[in-house]
Amino acid sequence: MEKLICPACGSSNLVKSNYHEYVTENIGGQVLIDKVLYQCPDCGLEGDFFNENELAIEKALSDLKNKLVVSILDGFTENKVSLSSIERALDLPQRTLTKWKNGASAPTSAGIALLKFIKLFPWLLEVAENKFDYEISQKIFMGNAFQKMISKMTFIESEFKEAGVITSANSTFLYIHMHKNEDINAMGYGNITPMVTIS
Ligand SMILES: [Zn+2]
Repeated sequence: MEKLICPACGSSNLVKSNYHEYVTENIGGQVLIDKVLYQCPDCGLEGDFFNENELAIEKALSDLKNKLVVSILDGFTENKVSLSSIERALDLPQRTLTKWKNGASAPTSAGIALLKFIKLFPWLLEVAENKFDYEISQKIFMGNAFQKMISKMTFIESEFKEAGVITSANSTFLYIHMHKNEDINAMGYGNITPMVTIS
């Protein structure tokens, strides 16, 4: 192995030490990597003289991203979203997705960002399937927001019967069904007064 030399004084007495540090990819998780530190006993300089840490970080990040892409694509399969439907919706060729999935080629930054958005907001695929139509997109977005909202709301059990979101061709609405209106509403959704309507 080539003798390592201090970049400041040319000494070959460098002392190398190793330490561990986590590298984190925002939603891809984290991994522990080995980092190095060189110290020159002759001039006192210390640091990552040969940029080994930078390369290790880059590699770890790229591995985390590739793993994330595979897990997102596997998630599609589990949720019965086919790669061909993603191709139709996003114009992202199925063979490209397959290559990313089996590691034959590295996903692009834009591709990773897109998959991250879809992982966080799966309804974006529905938006794409509807050809990015503005009105339809708003309904899909609000319908999902209402669902999320209902799941976070606290209802008083003695008064509350049910709540839900109905999306039709013309509108998306959120309804809240209270016990005190039960006589009126018992027949079904038709009698329920929407709380919030997005049309
Ligand atoms: Zn030195």
